[in-house]
Amino acid sequence: MTIYVYFEGRFVPLSEAKVGIMTHALHYGTGCFEGIRAYWNADEEQLYLFRMREHYERMVRSTKVLKIKLPLSVEELCDITVELVRRNGYREDVYIRPLAYKSTQEVGVRLHGLDDGFAIYTTPFGPYLEPEGIRCRTSSWRRVSDAAIPARAKITGLYVNSALAKSEAVEEGYDEAIMLTENGHVSEGSAENLFIVSNGRLITPPLSDDILEGITRDTIIELSREEYGIVTIERSIDRSELYTANECFLCGTGAEISPVREIDRRPIGSGRVGSLTRKLQSLYSDIVHGRHPKYRHWCSPVYQKVTA
Ligand code: PMP
Repeated sequence: MTIYVYFEGRFVPLSEAKVGIMTHALHYGTGCFEGIRAYWNADEEQLYLFRMREHYERMVRSTKVLKIKLPLSVEELCDITVELVRRNGYREDVYIRPLAYKSTQEVGVRLHGLDDGFAIYTTPFGPYLEPEGIRCRTSSWRRVSDAAIPARAKITGLYVNSALAKSEAVEEGYDEAIMLTENGHVSEGSAENLFIVSNGRLITPPLSDDILEGITRDTIIELSREEYGIVTIERSIDRSELYTANECFLCGTGAEISPVREIDRRPIGSGRVGSLTRKLQSLYSDIVHGRHPKYRHWCSPVYQKVTA
């Protein structure tokens, strides 16, 4: 089966979407991207893209930081994404990766005066982290600060910071890294935001602690308030607060809600999945599969309904 991608303004087979070896973004990390999930609902025979619009809105913000001109509006990007996923005919969970990048084939580090390219590819995608709980270590790598490369923009080059931390953690036998800011506050995982539950309070690092403004993070803040009456506290978290928390979880489009069982060889809470984490996990799963009418507006169907 031919897999289609969106590349240089057209839907083309994946094998035809190539960039040259001199492409600016390949050398200097001058691109920005998004990661969107679509969930297969077998009962409805429908695929739902989750909070696609918010992902493209964040991409617009990332492109501003990198001086990249997107060729399309948020509406057009959403329409093209639905069309692309539909063309590929998936009946399973899918990951969608839009990428905007400096496409000029030329030597010279800068952002201005370069051409911009845009592409979207899609791929089948299962769980990114173990949903029954993971073991983390505090990274020896610090989260890159806003004064160096802004973490609030999803910049390709920024992910060297994440990759250093992730490989260090995994090669030492852990599942994921937790990075601290330059001044030692908890920032985020290599590709996930972080929450702790401490004395009944739900706490997450603020946007000013060098995190990506996660869409899953935002979803959890809204769900906790709406469904459980829990107002999330956004404040800096010390490393030692991780060790004494009752619950901890990482969250992201890829990671979904991933319970953290252990950090730096200390069990978190009982060392098992915490009760609020478990409740949020199952609520989140219902919502992303389009099974929760109240949050259906977050889900964009890919396939047209065939009415008898
Ligand atoms: N932080 C980083 C560094 C990430 O790469 C991601 C994944 N996009 C997240 C947090 C979570 O963001 P979201 O919930 O929007 O996927």
